[in-house]
Amino acid sequence: MKQTLLLQICCATCGGYISSELIKEFSLTLYFCNPNLFPAKEWEKRLADVKALAAELQVALIIDKQDYENWKQTKAGLENEPEKGKRCVICYNERLAKTAQLARQKDFAHFGTTLTTSPYKDGETILSIGRKLQTELGLLGQAGVKFLDRDFKKDNGWQKAIAWSKEHNYYRQKFCGCEFSLIKN
Ligand code: SF4
Repeated sequence: MKQTLLLQICCATCGGYISSELIKEFSLTLYFCNPNLFPAKEWEKRLADVKALAAELQVALIIDKQDYENWKQTKAGLENEPEKGKRCVICYNERLAKTAQLARQKDFAHFGTTLTTSPYKDGETILSIGRKLQTELGLLGQAGVKFLDRDFKKDNGWQKAIAWSKEHNYYRQKFCGCEFSLIKN
């Protein structure tokens, strides 16, 4: 029997191809946890595609609440940070921590994220956050929640994701997600 995986997904473009591969290995549940998305319309657009992806792959989807104002407040003073800078590290950490906590609550065997697919994100930092969370979960005495420690951009993962997204006609945005990344594009 396949082990369970809760996979935080930022959008169908980064996450579509890799999800289509991971269902061969895991019993997959997608987790749309992206309070960083701005404006609300962007959140809705990406969610609509992730819903379509879940239906296409016939996997479960859990949707986190839209919470941009709270997300923004915790980034005060970091508005001018470059992408991959301090603001992004907090943003990665928040999404991964929520995923890890939910995986623990719901007894998933693994948690992971599609965030390492994009070359515009700091994959090594994302992976180190996942490892740290796995250790913390272990320290809390919880059994068996493991981080899926994979850099999905390896082996041309980004190029494959873009090609898959085009082929399946998913929406491809031109910015990372928050208003600060929107301004720079
Ligand atoms: S640029 Fe992307 S990763 Fe960085 S804070 Fe904004 S939404 Fe988060």
